[in-house]
Amino acid sequence: MSRGVVFVISGPSGVGKGTLLNALIDRNKDKIGYSVSATTRDKRDGEIEGVHYFFKTNEEFDELIKIGDVLEYDTYSGNRYGTLKSVLMDAINIGKSIALDITVPGAMALKESLKNDVVTVFIMPPSVEVLRQRLTDRNREGLDEIEERIRFAVQSELSKYYDYDYVVINNDLEKAVDDLENILNAEFLRVNRNPDLLDKV
Ligand code: 5GP
Repeated sequence: MSRGVVFVISGPSGVGKGTLLNALIDRNKDKIGYSVSATTRDKRDGEIEGVHYFFKTNEEFDELIKIGDVLEYDTYSGNRYGTLKSVLMDAINIGKSIALDITVPGAMALKESLKNDVVTVFIMPPSVEVLRQRLTDRNREGLDEIEERIRFAVQSELSKYYDYDYVVINNDLEKAVDDLENILNAEFLRVNRNPDLLDKV
């Protein structure tokens, strides 16, 4: 079996990261799972502890950092979000690939620490207008918050795609999931992920 991939995606709020990752994982259940992060934000309706996030108080989050279980963390909209070492390593150690939806600084930090195990994909909206429309349509944030997210996307997120390994434009959902699947499959074929082939051939 090839070595697992740490499949990291980032992109602005409203670009469809969650939907894309769910669809990718759904199509590839035997190959890839989802890394559940810890967060200090409040649980939203329908979210389940341990499925969407591990919901923590600020003190509990501090404790996770102190015991060394936080591989990277970032603050977004006033709340902290962090990747848990235990979750990631449990998967990697059994050769399973794992997908993460994390902020740009988080993605860069993981790439820095886990190097070749990590592949980074930036999800780009077809346009800023489409992004604004999607945020408006999902009706979760107020108008001010939507404009703040658009400002943050334009000023701090979109131009960072140059630092990623791949970029996928989320215009057509099916096509974007195909693109992600193609990237994943190509990554499985990398020589460094298949170190023991000669023993088997
Ligand atoms: P939401 O509150 O909408 O679930 O997530 C807000 C943002 O936090 C998203 O951009 C998501 O990518 C990011 N995020 C979720 N988990 C993590 C994590 O473990 N680390 C980092 N750096 N960002 C995360």
